Order: sequence, then structure tokens, then C-alpha cells
Amino acid sequence: MATIFSRIAAGEIPSYKVAEDDRFFAFLDINPVAPGHVLVIPKHEESYIFNLDDEEYAAFTLFAKRVAAALEKAMPCKRIGVCVIGLEVPHAHIHLVPLNSEADMDFRKPKLTLPDEQMKEIASRIAAEFK
Ligand code: AMP
Repeated sequence: MATIFSRIAAGEIPSYKVAEDDRFFAFLDINPVAPGHVLVIPKHEESYIFNLDDEEYAAFTLFAKRVAAALEKAMPCKRIGVCVIGLEVPHAHIHLVPLNSEADMDFRKPKLTLPDEQMKEIASRIAAEFK
């Protein structure tokens, strides 16, 4: 059965898309830990990031690097934080979070719910910077 993230990459479930190529897809986390929190996924379905073969893992992290560069331009911050959790959705993904302090990457805090208009505006700003 397809994961929710495969269905997002296939366009069957709506998302706030920020970047895409033929193999990878990036979109806003629906409940961000900080504004601009992005998830990067392979379109190919694999539940655990460290089960990707070496070639796909390398290509995946290079795609995430390009997304991080766009995110850094679009969302003023000190650094882009990177993490892998994967306890909730069984489809490999990398979290990218604009950081101004360590607390911005605290996943134990209550998550944010931003208005639809703000999510759209953030996603289009990041997408415009994606090269
Ligand atoms: P984890 O699997 O623990 O890395 O967490 C999965 C992340 O996916 C969480 O931060 C959720 O807020 C996020 N998430 C779950 N469903 C969606 C969705 N439909 N669109 C965007 N983000 C989602």
C-alpha cells in the first residue's frame, strides 16, 4: 500500500510543494517545528532512509542540499538544521528546518499550524529560490 508521502509525490494528496525532480520531492511539513520546515523524500518507496542503496542515498542528500540552499535564501535564519526521525511516517524523509536558535529544532515542543495563505507564501518563496 502506498504511503501518504508517495501519494503526495504523485500529486494524489495535496501538499505545499517547494521542489521536485524526476526522483525526489520536497514539501512543507504540515505541522512545522518552525516556519519553513521542509520534508524531502525519494519518490521511490522505501520506509527507512538507511536502506536506500548508496547511489540513491547520495543523490537524495545532494537533492536535499539544493533544497537547503533555496530554504536559506527564502527564510532568513542562521543555519538550516537537518535531521532524520521517521518514527511517524514509514517513508524515508529528511527534515530541513530554518534555525535561529537550537530550540527551533526541538520536536518535543507543540508544533505550529500556520494559516493556508502563509504556508502557500512560504512554499512559493522557497520554490522561487530552488535551482
Ligand atoms: P517523522 O516520521 O517522525 O519524521 O515525522 C513525520 C513528519 O511528517 C511530521 O513532522 C509530520 O508533521 C509530517 N507530516 C505528516 N503528514 C503530513 C502531510 N500530509 N503533509 C506534510 N507533512 C506531514
